[in-house]
Amino acid sequence: MLVIEVAQIPPEGLDVDAPLDAAGLHLGPSEDFSLAVGGRLTSHVEKGDDLTVHVKGHLSAGLELDCGRCLEPFTLPIEQNLDLFYLPHQADGEAEDEDEITERELVVAFYAEGRLDLGEMVREQLFLGVPMKPACREDCRGICPTCGANRNTQPCSCPTDDASMSPFSSVLKGPLF
Ligand SMILES: [Zn+2]
Ligand SMILES: [Zn+2]
Repeated sequence: MLVIEVAQIPPEGLDVDAPLDAAGLHLGPSEDFSLAVGGRLTSHVEKGDDLTVHVKGHLSAGLELDCGRCLEPFTLPIEQNLDLFYLPHQADGEAEDEDEITERELVVAFYAEGRLDLGEMVREQLFLGVPMKPACREDCRGICPTCGANRNTQPCSCPTDDASMSPFSSVLKGPLF
């Protein structure tokens, strides 16, 4: 369903409306996230005269991540509009003129062997959506470094050193030049 034979895209284009699963997206068991149930790709795929493929649509998925602060699992929603161009990959060394490629600023990828795998495309989009420091919510209070309590759910009575929260604290505490 997610793998499209470019030669079989009709002149009016192809509507793809498909549920997402880990297998279709080539996601292994040890990625940085797992895919929440219920993800969906809705898109319209059109072929240009020069075998360019234009994919326009919407990706809706959830990434199951662990919060970097409180370590609790949470689901990060991904809602992404797609507007991507694919060119046929020329494996025989007949590379397209480089100037020509750079002029097409919208080209983001190539497809090979006449086949475009939308699962691969979605996989890339999801990886781009994984934050460097995942947080279950913006104001997650994290784990208390002293007693280990999850401060979102168990307020603890450990003394808090507010200065240590500041990224400038080490500078402020240092010797004055
Ligand atoms: Zn958290
Ligand atoms: Zn504590």
